[in-house]
Amino acid sequence: MTWRLDCGDYDLFVIEDGYYWRDPSDYHPAATDRDWRFHQRNDEGNVRLNFGCYLITDGERTLMVDAGIGKEVARSQPGMVAGLMPQAVDSLGISRESVETVIYSHMHYDHIGGSHEDGRIVFPNARHVFHEREWSFWKSAETEFAKAAQNIMLPLLDQDRVDFIDRDTEFLPGVTAIESFGHTPGHLSVTMLSGGTRTFIGGDVSNHPFQVEHPDWSLPVDNDPEAAARTRHRIFEDLRATGSSFVAGHYPMPGIGKIATDDGVRVYQPKSVSAV
Ligand SMILES: [Zn+2]
Repeated sequence: MTWRLDCGDYDLFVIEDGYYWRDPSDYHPAATDRDWRFHQRNDEGNVRLNFGCYLITDGERTLMVDAGIGKEVARSQPGMVAGLMPQAVDSLGISRESVETVIYSHMHYDHIGGSHEDGRIVFPNARHVFHEREWSFWKSAETEFAKAAQNIMLPLLDQDRVDFIDRDTEFLPGVTAIESFGHTPGHLSVTMLSGGTRTFIGGDVSNHPFQVEHPDWSLPVDNDPEAAARTRHRIFEDLRATGSSFVAGHYPMPGIGKIATDDGVRVYQPKSVSAV
């Protein structure tokens, strides 16, 4: 499914590339049922975990933030639904050739796997943008995450489709990739400031709504758990102070909400947005 958020001069489309079901009990040892209150459950009591990515357009210029997990990577994961993004973009009537930039939050396969489909680059004319610290780290590491990243990145690099940035960088007026290190060494988020609206696309700054209340509940996927926790806390404080919309690809879809105070506690408040 796809949802639309009005962001001043821009439309932000939240695109669900896929999802899977998982047992919540082994996710974080301190989490209770209350911490899973926003998630849909199936008959077995498993929770639905989503893969979100984003299309931003002003009607003339279009960019993407992340590309989803894609079909190929998900093939080895039984029961996972994935690779819905390319079709979703087509359904919006936006040509894949018109996408000028794909800003990637980081190089975990669930964010870059969807950059290819059936051996072809999904956005053939786009510059694929990463923070330079991200590739410096993943290109030589030997973990499973690193090997997956290398497999997905090499065709993009071979075809000269990649740009690296080393600082906060504006790609459209008011649409800026910003450094938010911790989850990975070169993690990026995207801020959108337009027409009085403030929107923050977090990437994997936070993978679960319970981290709004407990920023130090890092998950094993956080590369540097302490830095990830610090970054989360800083960003959530800023989002709460500015009343920004927070957009998170692994929160229950569409994963749009506010960071607010409820009874003295900092909480995530999902916002209902209609699907397109
Ligand atoms: Zn992720």
